[in-house]
Amino acid sequence: MGIFDLMREQGHEQLVFCSDPEAGLRAIIGIHDTTLGPALGGCRMWNYAEEGEAVLDVLRLSAGMTAKSAASGCTYGGGKAVIWADPRTGKTEHLFRSFGRFVESLRGRFITGTDVGTTEDDFVWAAQETRWLVALPQWYGGSGDTSLITAFGVWKGMRACAEAVWGSPDLRGRTVAVQGAGKVGTHLVEHLHSEGCRLVVSDLDPERVERLVQRCGVEVAAPDEIYDVECDIFAPCALGGILNDDTIPRLRCRIVAGSANNQLAEPRHADMLHQRGILYAPDYVINAGGLIQVADELQGYNQDRAYRKAAAIADALRRIFRLSAERGITPVAAADELVRERLERLGSLKRFHLTTRQEGGR
Ligand code: NAD
Repeated sequence: MGIFDLMREQGHEQLVFCSDPEAGLRAIIGIHDTTLGPALGGCRMWNYAEEGEAVLDVLRLSAGMTAKSAASGCTYGGGKAVIWADPRTGKTEHLFRSFGRFVESLRGRFITGTDVGTTEDDFVWAAQETRWLVALPQWYGGSGDTSLITAFGVWKGMRACAEAVWGSPDLRGRTVAVQGAGKVGTHLVEHLHSEGCRLVVSDLDPERVERLVQRCGVEVAAPDEIYDVECDIFAPCALGGILNDDTIPRLRCRIVAGSANNQLAEPRHADMLHQRGILYAPDYVINAGGLIQVADELQGYNQDRAYRKAAAIADALRRIFRLSAERGITPVAAADELVRERLERLGSLKRFHLTTRQEGGR
């Protein structure tokens, strides 16, 4: 399928190919949908095997950001960037400043920050060239690491899931199997530990799990065994695509709720979970804490306000579960429907022309 066909299929507005051989930069900025506002989404650095893989990744990731923003009540559109380079060896001031200049050329139509393979410090370089950045380090005027608020939102969302399944949000005494003891997984385990959960954790990196054994007394599962753990809740906090034909039949839980992006290998896996009686919290709804933080930063960051909005992830999930039950559809189908409705409703705002010199796409 050609690039224009792929863009039409998912409704993308724009792809920007950025090339600066002297800086070693090959990047693609994907702008999916700016109905709600300028496109907002992180910048991933990844050593793709080939160009097509980078194109597919930026298309998929930017479309996901539209849904995440719409579902979490943010007033931003969906976008994402990918830099095609090895994050272990390819990072230079030249590359990130060059990338910053491409971002600046879009004059606020796209706002970005960290994602897999990039850190806050990389964007201090980019900030020399563009204003359109979020989640810079706090010492640089940004709102800083987003993993804390993401974990907070997942924890609150998990409580809403518990309420839907067991009639009470209380997680005390529940067993939660957490896949991934990285930044979000670690903070999530801390919340669940303080609420009195029994925790089973896996990570490819044994040191990360060991830290949680010491700090919270978690039990350990080997990476491939986490799917078989008898538990109440399975929390995927590592990579995407892990809910698939092989893993879903192995799950021994009532709820799947975690931070990882794109947890379902294919859309049909939402039906498979539903048929097995497992409540699935749509990933783009429950993991929106980081987006909520950076969207708030664009209005002048206020931590209390951001955490209040992240706590409302629980309300969004309650609405989704209600609609899902009323219509007999999966929570993913219900969430997608609420996203479509919000985009359609608010899209009509743009019928009113504001000025002759519109800025920022509003
Ligand atoms: P991270 O890189 O800090 O942690 C990921 C962890 O998963 C690492 O410790 C890694 O070793 C582990 N891992 C990878 N594959 C694994 C496997 N097969 N089994 C067990 N462990 C495995 O990343 P993070 O910031 O904690 O993000 C975790 C997930 O949440 C990612 O999918 C990310 O896209 C998503 N997410 C993060 C944020 C955020 O604010 N950081 C926001 C939204 C979504």
